[in-house]
Amino acid sequence: MKKDLSNIKKAKYLLDKNHCVAIPTETVYGLAANAYSNQATSKIYKLKKRPKSNPLIVHYSNLKDLEKDCVINDNFQKLYKKFCPGPITFVLKLKRESKISRNVTNGKKTLAVRFPKNAVTINLLSHLKYPLAAPSANIYTQLSPVSKKDVEEEFGNKIKLILNGGNSRIGLESTIVNLVNKPQVLRLGGIDIKKISKVLKKKLNYTKNRSIKVPGQSKFHYSPGIPIRLNVKTCFHDEAFVLIQKRKKFDRNHFYLSKNKNLKEVGKNLYKTLRKIKKLKFKKIAVEEIPNIGLGQAINDRLKRASKS
Ligand code: AMP
Ligand code: MG
Repeated sequence: MKKDLSNIKKAKYLLDKNHCVAIPTETVYGLAANAYSNQATSKIYKLKKRPKSNPLIVHYSNLKDLEKDCVINDNFQKLYKKFCPGPITFVLKLKRESKISRNVTNGKKTLAVRFPKNAVTINLLSHLKYPLAAPSANIYTQLSPVSKKDVEEEFGNKIKLILNGGNSRIGLESTIVNLVNKPQVLRLGGIDIKKISKVLKKKLNYTKNRSIKVPGQSKFHYSPGIPIRLNVKTCFHDEAFVLIQKRKKFDRNHFYLSKNKNLKEVGKNLYKTLRKIKKLKFKKIAVEEIPNIGLGQAINDRLKRASKS
């Protein structure tokens, strides 16, 4: 895999001029812009066709920069130490003196922040004088991209540069934890709630907090735009059949997410497989039952939303 270190200068040049650049992360690829600039961040919403009411996650490469924008607390320190950089997003209190654009927060006094784990993106961040606001690099409600090629398919030549950082290692969005008051999980994702609970020494549940607008919580999302049946044992001949494990007898319409039911592998291959099925122009998808444990909860969450239309 060729990492795109040579293009970092070009990315910095474009970002400094308030353009958007797609960046690789371990969760999914992001559509990034200067988080301090109104002009740059409004381009993200326009390109994605994302409603302005949905706030963006801001990406940092170090704590010192984060402290310019957010109030950090003990729970944050514990989780940061254990999981960062990694697939976890924290909602923190925004500092009054922060320069974060209002477009990013939708005028809220809180900010969602993350420390991505990808050498190319970490390198890029270390050269910038501002953090990067970056939602997933897909059109609103569509499948998230997990490779440079996926981003090209989403946006064509509408974005000037897509940095290549290989396939996203996790392949699912980050877990979002609200740490402003009592910790709450707002979105299931790359890190299992149980692991977070263990670090905080208190049992966290996934709460759908209606007072905070989180599109990761909206019912229809992550969609390949094709009807999906879930928890299926057998499929119809005209359906793409998504299996959790490779089978001995393997038909043309079979797609497996893992060789041997490894949930990490299932997560990594989910969007990639759904995208492939879409390209093959299947009209229907059937998905085998996925165990609702650990990462399986986040995978089932995405599939449930993808199946709503
Ligand atoms: P995406 O970047 O598309 O994966 O989505 C980013 C997620 O972070 C969305 O679900 C946002 O609503 C959520 N988010 C961003 N800022 C905040 C915030 N201040 N409070 C709660 N959720 C947030
Ligand atoms: Mg998204």
